[in-house]
Amino acid sequence: MALTTGAQVSVVGAGAMGAGIAQVAATAGHEVALLDAATGAAESAVARIIGSLQRQEAKGRISSATLEEVVERITTAERLEALPPSALVVEAVREDLPTKREIFARLAATQDATTVLATNTSSLDVSALADGLPSPGRVLGLHFFNPPPAMRLVEVVSGRQTSPDVVEAASELVARWGKTPVRCASTPGFIVNRVARPFYGEAQRMLMAGVADAATLDAALRSAGFRMGPLELTDLIGQDVNLAVGTSVWEQTGRDPRYAPTAVQRELVAAGHLGRKTGQGVYRYGRDGRPVDAEPDAQRLAQLVGGPVETDPVARTVAMLVNEAVDLVARGEASVEDVDTAMVLGTGYPRGPVAWGAEIGYAVVADQLAALDRAFPGGRYRPSPALAERAGR
Ligand code: NAD
Repeated sequence: MALTTGAQVSVVGAGAMGAGIAQVAATAGHEVALLDAATGAAESAVARIIGSLQRQEAKGRISSATLEEVVERITTAERLEALPPSALVVEAVREDLPTKREIFARLAATQDATTVLATNTSSLDVSALADGLPSPGRVLGLHFFNPPPAMRLVEVVSGRQTSPDVVEAASELVARWGKTPVRCASTPGFIVNRVARPFYGEAQRMLMAGVADAATLDAALRSAGFRMGPLELTDLIGQDVNLAVGTSVWEQTGRDPRYAPTAVQRELVAAGHLGRKTGQGVYRYGRDGRPVDAEPDAQRLAQLVGGPVETDPVARTVAMLVNEAVDLVARGEASVEDVDTAMVLGTGYPRGPVAWGAEIGYAVVADQLAALDRAFPGGRYRPSPALAERAGR
């Protein structure tokens, strides 16, 4: 069955992501079957989808007729074996390799050999999911961002065995769904969750070193065009969630010091200071949900930004982002265009890091990293060979 408009789609796992993906597919004209292992979860996902569509209707974005048509296209199923023959199955169950592998094996046994099997995993290796399955070439990652109806980016992730035709067809499909696909290899963190690591890590290290308080560090990054500062952003994401992603990349890269989790974040998590959801993280939150005592120190901010790179939150962070991005490109894991698009759409960065590096000058960035490497030896700041090459060295 081809990935055509209107083809049957199934979604396994009806949590935050599965419900959103089902909504996107049904809105794009597909018949969608939704399944969850927990009793009543698929039905409550449909109720959430209806609520989301009703909010769009209230804003005049869709008509009531469209709302009804979209909802009518969504059905629920009780068992994997009861899913209709599908052109595409998207798996969005909890992040656990054995669970996902079992689902893929059962899907392979019941669906056609041409059914495209996609995983929405954030951190697991797509190749490991495909290994041992019949026709592993049709297995790939379709990594949607939260919430799927609102976020335009989809990382289309290839495992070792994924067929280029499947990548092409899936990219075209999600583009027809109004999304922007970027292609990448199945490497730790894919594009966004890999390149973004130093955005958080640098601020945490400067906080620990006493360079400035959290509010001043966050204000520095906002002054460079980032929508939120890194520390307030980790409070929003959840310190536990952010630490888990960072730790997973660190482990999967053989504990590369570039991705080493920080003591400050581990302590926050150990103390249960997970961020906004617990009322305390890097910041303390008042009853109104706003951080308490979060005034930046304007004088300190003016001293830091534009000063020596070791204590300039912007230069230090951007240099590390550029280094990550050019490294990913040099390893052949994604194109320059896809890395820059992913970082702008997936994280809201003001510029793509590769283009940003060109603007600053790769030689300048390489010098900044060399200075950081001298100040903080141990490998975290080693300039990537790809950066040296771009700098003409
Ligand atoms: P969630 O906990 O909201 O939902 C997971 C759902 O899967 C639950 O409803 C659960 O009952 C169901 N489930 C568990 N085991 C199952 C099984 N064997 N068969 C069928 N259903 C099963 O999780 P989520 O946030 O929607 O995440 C789902 C996937 O998407 C994970 O792989 C996650 O890494 C990935 N992801 C999450 C986000 C995010 O921000 N939440 C973003 C991108 C990707």
